[in-house]
Parts: sequence; structure tokens; C-alpha cells
Amino acid sequence: MDFSKLAEFLAQNNEPAFRIKQITKNYYSGRYLSFSEMTDLSLGLRQLLETNYSLSSIKLDKLLEDKFAKKARLILGDGSKIETVLMDYGDWKTVCVSSQVGCPLGCTFCATGKMGFTRNLTVDEIIDQILFWKHTNTVSRIVFMGMGEPFLNWDNLIAALKTINDKNGLYIGNRKISISTAGVAPRIIDFANLNTEINLAISLHSADQATREEMMPIARQYSLNDLKKALDYYTKLTHRQVFFEYLLAKDVNDSPKHLDLLIKFIRSNNLFYLNLIPLNPIKDGLTPSDNLTYFQKELTAAHVNFSVRHSIGQSINSACGQLIVEK
Ligand code: SF4
Repeated sequence: MDFSKLAEFLAQNNEPAFRIKQITKNYYSGRYLSFSEMTDLSLGLRQLLETNYSLSSIKLDKLLEDKFAKKARLILGDGSKIETVLMDYGDWKTVCVSSQVGCPLGCTFCATGKMGFTRNLTVDEIIDQILFWKHTNTVSRIVFMGMGEPFLNWDNLIAALKTINDKNGLYIGNRKISISTAGVAPRIIDFANLNTEINLAISLHSADQATREEMMPIARQYSLNDLKKALDYYTKLTHRQVFFEYLLAKDVNDSPKHLDLLIKFIRSNNLFYLNLIPLNPIKDGLTPSDNLTYFQKELTAAHVNFSVRHSIGQSINSACGQLIVEK
């Protein structure tokens, strides 16, 4: 929604100056799916807007739900499809947002990576995912953990974050927003320099360089050393915790050697925090490890800051790494 163009359009049609504020407020409330539903506008104006503008950049294709999660497949203006997820944690609801159509990074444990990359999402397409859920739910947290690598869509990500946080936008506090990156080290530095209260999560999955390269091809471009340097810079500047995601995959990253390197890595900075995640199965993907209890025991003994995070929404393939749209 280009509000400056819309304001010009309203002025050309002799609408009072406050009208744009009224429409902006209506839009971000999430209550309306079309201009024709905005009954606080005159019928003539509603019809005029409906003919000249589209309120949303997305349309629902398919909705799946289980007890704790809902997954929506959305169609964009150019026919591309993405998925977004609403997770219900009882006391709050979190929207998992996609940032790209597909993903160029091709992590081996991730269904999205198998889709390849089509394009970055626009700011509207990012915001409209949140508004889609807000239409029928109270949304209190946002995570950029859906399809795509958010730091490779930097400009649109930053613009969307401003709108999410803005009191005239979605007005969700920065502390309730999290971004997960596969480890685009230069963008971690840029993100640190913004010095916001937005949470930063890193898909780590191995603290062994060779294993990480196998699981996440981006590790060949930005090594564990590059990642560690960028993150030490981030914690020094922001004094904020960094959350590491570690999916446990059988015979890939679950050996005693992997565990030792993981312990060393997490303990190397007291603001590093580990989230151990049982692997969510995908078609032709990696196998969940049997070593979760062993990792838990050893991490506890080594006084590592960690928790085990069970993904929700597995039955509808909406858990971490499971989002995919067949072309
Ligand atoms: S895990 Fe993230 S970065 Fe890796 S392929 Fe999947 S969407 Fe892309």
C-alpha cells in the first residue's frame, strides 16, 4: 500500500486531509479485507477505492490447521505462492513470516531450500501476511522464520520492521520481533549497527565447519569464524542475547565430537543461548537423531545456557524447515 500515492489520489478527488489517516488506521487494524467493508467511508469513496486500488497484495489459496498452528498458503499478485504460519502458545499468538519466494541458500534439512529461489517479497507482501492473521486473531509476536533468508531481502526487511513497530503501523514492540538468519555475516554487522531491541536468532546446526558446510552451503561463504566475529561485534555493541537454533539430525551433527564443539562455541560468549530442536521430518530429508537426551544431559553438565524447543504444527507441515510450495 503506497500511502503517499493514495493521499494524492484522495486529494485529487476532493477528500479532506484526515481521510488518509482514517484509511491507514483501518488498514493496519487488520479488520478489513477490502475497501468496500470500510463502512466509515462514504459508499461513493468505497467504490472509487475498490475500482482503483487493491487493499491487500495477497489472496488465500489454502488453509490448514491443527491444535496449535495454522498454516496459510497465499497467492501473490504475480501468481507466486508463499506460506505463513500462526502459532498459538496459549497466552500469545506468533506469526511466522516469509521474506522470499523460495530461498537461494539450499540448507539440506529445509523443504523451502529445495524449492530454489524466485524473488524477494515486497514490503506489502511481508506486512500483509501479518494483517492476514490479524483479521481473525490477536497477534502479539512476529518471527521472520518462514520461507527465505530475511537478511538477503535487507531493504524490504528493514522497511517492514519499521512499519511493524510504528505506532501508526502495526505497533508491535521490537522486543516481540525475532529475525532468524542462516549467518549472513556482513548483514549481522549492519543489524548490530541499527542497535534495536529486535531479537536475533542464528541457524547454527553445527559448530564444526565441515559439517556446517554440508548442512548449510552458505557456511562456505561465511565461515564459523566470520559468524563468530560478527556475533561478538553484535553482543559487544547491543549487550543482547543471541539465540542459536540446532536441529539434531541422526549421523550428521549428533556425535560426541559435534557436542564438544557446540559446547565450546556456545560457552565462548556469555550472551550466546542455545535452542536445541528435534528435527522435523521432510520428504527426502535428514532423519531425526536419537541423541537428544544425551545432548541434554551433557549440555546441562557443561553449564551451557540452553533449552529444548519442540516445534509445533508438524502435522500440517508448518514446523521449522517444513514450509514448501510445489511449483
Ligand atoms: S533454513 Fe532458512 S536459509 Fe536455509 S534454505 Fe531454509 S529458508 Fe533458506
